[in-house]
Amino acid sequence: MSTSMRPTTDNGPQRAPDQGEDPADALLLPVPDDDGAPFWEYAARRELRVQACAACGELRFPPRPCCPHCRSFDHRWRRMSGRGRIWSYVVPHPPLLPAYAAQAPYTVVVVELADAPRIRLAGNLVAAPDAALNSVDPGRVRIGAAVKVAFHEQAPGVTVPRWLLERP
Ligand SMILES: [Zn+2]
Repeated sequence: MSTSMRPTTDNGPQRAPDQGEDPADALLLPVPDDDGAPFWEYAARRELRVQACAACGELRFPPRPCCPHCRSFDHRWRRMSGRGRIWSYVVPHPPLLPAYAAQAPYTVVVVELADAPRIRLAGNLVAAPDAALNSVDPGRVRIGAAVKVAFHEQAPGVTVPRWLLERP
């Protein structure tokens, strides 16, 4: 399948190294692998890109070496518009890691990309790119609501995509 709940790769989470506090109290950071590293490098440039097969054109996510449709290993990183719709969401409550518990409840959305409806990315729904995780009232979130991507530098050199409501 070309869909995933996670924008991260499979090496598991790591903790933010430098947020001026106990690392155990920091938000988790992505740990890119070789296939996923370009996704995060583009994110640092404020670009949302997914792999597009160079042979058949099919878009795929999460990043991987081989096209699941035609088995080609050739690919490009195609820039997405950053528009999408909320396909699903959850509102986490404690018990959570300390940094998350401090901001709960907040909203984690699964966004279906307008450019690639079979690709879905998980992320935080926030009121502004650098706003707190709980900056949007979960009671206002609706399935199908239009969203657009934003980028937040969560730690030095580590930028993560987040999502803003098109009509706040
Ligand atoms: Zn292909």
